[in-house]
Amino acid sequence: MNERLRSLPSVDEVLARPAVRALAERVGRAAAKAAVRAAIAESRARLQSGDDLDDEPVPDARVLELGASEAKPRLRRVINATGVVLHTNLGRAPLHAEAVRRVAEIASGYSNLEIDLGTGRRGQRSAHLEPMLRELFGAEAAHVVNNCAGATMLALAALGRGGAAIVSRGELVEIGGGFRVPEILAQSGCRLIEVGTTNRTRAGDYAAALEANPGAMILRVHRSNFALVGFTEAPSMGELAALAREKKALLLHDLGSGALDAALGEFTAAQSLKEGADLVVVSGDKLLGGPQAGIMLGQREMVERCRKHPLSRALRADRMLLAALEATLRLYRDGRADELPALQALKASPSELRQRATRAALLLQEKGIACTVVESEGQVGGGSLPLRKLEGAGIALAGVPGPMLAALRAGDPPVIALVRDGRVVLDVRCVSDVAELADAVAQAAVRATAQKDDKLAVAAEGGPGPAQSTGDPLDLEV
Ligand SMILES: *Cc1c(COP(=O)(O)O)cnc(C)c1O
Repeated sequence: MNERLRSLPSVDEVLARPAVRALAERVGRAAAKAAVRAAIAESRARLQSGDDLDDEPVPDARVLELGASEAKPRLRRVINATGVVLHTNLGRAPLHAEAVRRVAEIASGYSNLEIDLGTGRRGQRSAHLEPMLRELFGAEAAHVVNNCAGATMLALAALGRGGAAIVSRGELVEIGGGFRVPEILAQSGCRLIEVGTTNRTRAGDYAAALEANPGAMILRVHRSNFALVGFTEAPSMGELAALAREKKALLLHDLGSGALDAALGEFTAAQSLKEGADLVVVSGDKLLGGPQAGIMLGQREMVERCRKHPLSRALRADRMLLAALEATLRLYRDGRADELPALQALKASPSELRQRATRAALLLQEKGIACTVVESEGQVGGGSLPLRKLEGAGIALAGVPGPMLAALRAGDPPVIALVRDGRVVLDVRCVSDVAELADAVAQAAVRATAQKDDKLAVAAEGGPGPAQSTGDPLDLEV
């Protein structure tokens, strides 16, 4: 074994090969060197695990393959063929072209981020957006931080001031990515007072808790990606607000989805404020369709307390976020919200999606790929409307799902697809360019076939069989 390990070539030896020198010309010496190191490490690991290597222990072909992927950025655009519109793992809402243009403009130079152009004095960065946020959400004041989880944390820390927060047992949820309401409360320094039961909590439960804990605040949490159905009960926002007023308690609403359009079916921040919430926090990249952001809306005194809290500095929004959010809000103000890509994907009709899937299928069939148009149910994602099924369409591919999913992910751009009933399905709801999808799938089919031939050859020699698919392409945090 040691002898075989010693027989592996050095990095410099591999770099001196003509094919690898040509690679370095194309992708740069640093990327080529990283690829050579990775290829040698792979061969070493295979030897150590008892594999026999070919005559050439570090093949040029493998170095070139690794070199090509080294040259690509790690964070890449992908085609979302999952049918989940606000897919957290895939970046949630795609930005409108105008938001992208504003980000490029503001990010590529200097800006009046924290300067008041009228007075020349230091200004507030989120003040640029405040008038529009107040107008659109019907709030007295607004503040923006870098995400909604941060906004919730900041609100609890600034308004709770180390006291207690009363939360229904039906709202002690985990939203995903480790955001668990009891843990966020603990981190913010607030003591959690649980009331009610998992399925039923009444206004009287909150009232009793307020009697026993004067000075506590009420926290209502949107259940996000979780729904309660059946024998359930919860007081309305209005009832909670009346109780909070009577007992002089604060009412904080962690709402998540920043829907501005009530027709989407989600409770809106404007509604929550109208019914009497003191402070509502929402996310910029959920149903609002903008960039990642935490938007805090409510009474001026509450918003100011949050703005002045030290955590506000740690969670501050950067100029790219603010530029994208301002452009997104302007589209709403100008009556152009229908142009937002996320809202277009949500509202696409089943017949429109069937047509899109049919166009994709025809393109694929022209390329010799067997496929059929199928019905496909999409989801809103982003912790919004978890029970809403979005009737849509997709393309089902023939063949074993595992290698095909991997080949789709290895493409350029990568395609993230689904497995349903043992077949790979590409939901077209979030696919804006059908021709690009068809090209990516055709290339993946070639790679999947090549890989299958390799695996069959290995299997014939008694090696491992084809890779097993789990059928779940992602650990979905929606
Ligand atoms: C999504 C969500 C959050 C977290 O928002 P991010 O923008 O992901 O930070 C917080 N609260 C609720 C109710 C949510 O749905």
